[in-house]
Amino acid sequence: MIRSLSLLLAGLGAGNVPVTRPRLVVVITVDQLRPDYLDRYRPQLKGAFATLLKGGASFSDAYQDHAVTETAPGHATILSGRWPAHTGIIRNLVGVQDPSAPLIGVNGPGASPTRFRGTALFDWLKAADPGARALSISGKDRGAILPMGRAKEQVYWYSAGFFTTSRYYADSLPTWVRVFNGQRVPFRAAGTQWTLFLSEREYPEPDSASYENQGRDIVFPHRLPADSGQAALAFIATPTMDSLTLAFALEGVRALQLGARGATDLLAVSLSTTDYVGHAYGPDSREIHDQVVRLDRYLGRFLEQLFVRYGRNNVLVVLTADHGVTPYPERARALGHPGAVRVIPDTIIQSANAALDQRVGGGDWLQFESGMLLVPDRSKLVAHDVNVDSVIADVGTRLRALAGVAHVDRAADLTDKDTADPVSRRWIHQLPPDGGVELVVTLKPYCIWSYANLPIAMHGQPTELDAHVPLILLGPGIRRGAYARRVSTVDIAPTLARLLDLTPAEPLDGRVLSEALGGPN
Ligand SMILES: [Zn+2]
Repeated sequence: MIRSLSLLLAGLGAGNVPVTRPRLVVVITVDQLRPDYLDRYRPQLKGAFATLLKGGASFSDAYQDHAVTETAPGHATILSGRWPAHTGIIRNLVGVQDPSAPLIGVNGPGASPTRFRGTALFDWLKAADPGARALSISGKDRGAILPMGRAKEQVYWYSAGFFTTSRYYADSLPTWVRVFNGQRVPFRAAGTQWTLFLSEREYPEPDSASYENQGRDIVFPHRLPADSGQAALAFIATPTMDSLTLAFALEGVRALQLGARGATDLLAVSLSTTDYVGHAYGPDSREIHDQVVRLDRYLGRFLEQLFVRYGRNNVLVVLTADHGVTPYPERARALGHPGAVRVIPDTIIQSANAALDQRVGGGDWLQFESGMLLVPDRSKLVAHDVNVDSVIADVGTRLRALAGVAHVDRAADLTDKDTADPVSRRWIHQLPPDGGVELVVTLKPYCIWSYANLPIAMHGQPTELDAHVPLILLGPGIRRGAYARRVSTVDIAPTLARLLDLTPAEPLDGRVLSEALGGPN
């Protein structure tokens, strides 16, 4: 009685409703989870998704409301409360690349949050409680790193069969990580099969669409390579990878004694398999259906174990995604979108660079990624008497002529006046004024950016399909319900800050989801 009274009073500090602070905040990001999956497979979802939808505050109109709906920019919004324009994480593949931070114990690209600007939720938590701890885990480096901002905490991701980190965070792997890796689960999975979780009649989708997975291995069961090293590489694209990621997270919770001090700690988990399966087989495939059903069960067991460990009212859960996905163009055309094509800008960029190489010497002068044309060394080109604006205008004209391109805009022409238009708004949210982006290219509906020889399903556009994500909160202080207001992933961090009585260290782009607050403790 006395304990609950003191907790009640402790929660009154910010002038809000009194809230029992959770012992653990768990932020789950499912890579490429489209929210319509939860509706589509709803009768079959009996694990975590059922728990969250029934007991949580579920926002049906939530967005990663920026233009380049890719993994790195998306993960950076979730616990920073800020758009890519302010986090500085505008590109995906180079988002966390850092050769000066090599991986520990394995080969692979070095990674750190060096491009991330400003602070994130854990920094605010640590400022209020210097003893606060955080653990962040993902199949991907950027999925583990970016939710933590620049904080040098326990941050691990998967690389060729092992969970590792980089020199940015540590000089060696702790014992619990080495012991977990020592089980060699991904290597021992060589030759195992991915079979359907439910009986075959529960899956209405055709199993054999010839465009899936580049025409190879398109029907169940899917078998991992017999060679253990090859199996460890392929393992990340199987449902078991999410199960392993969650087992690793639970091992970390135990080893680090998260939530054991009577104060709040943070656990961030980003589950990567849905993204791999979605790219390979598409959002309408039997494979994505089975992946989501299996993930529902794995996550359900994970949450149950946390509820047993801490008590249900001491765990605050957030579920969201870093982006959605657009169907295969082949599938979109069959659905009545005849203009759905893959757009490959490579030859335009290469020929413009070749012309610049002839004039001023070799360099990566023009770079193109997910609709952004970047000129990182503009001043160097100007110093060589290159009329950069004219080069950019010429490239813009050629991009505009590509089938599937809707419009090409100069980044400088986008203004805040256009925020009612979702595409303009998402580009404005995307671009830092000093980011080196000169042009932005938006595709027609159902068209996707592509790479030569890689015919996969894609995301990355400022469209509803790619930007719409789930956003569900569950736990102490959360008011259960279904909420229809349009919200964004940048609203998550300010909402958690309010719940935890924390003060963000800088201006945020998001707003508190106040309609979801005030539930029973
Ligand atoms: Zn992603």
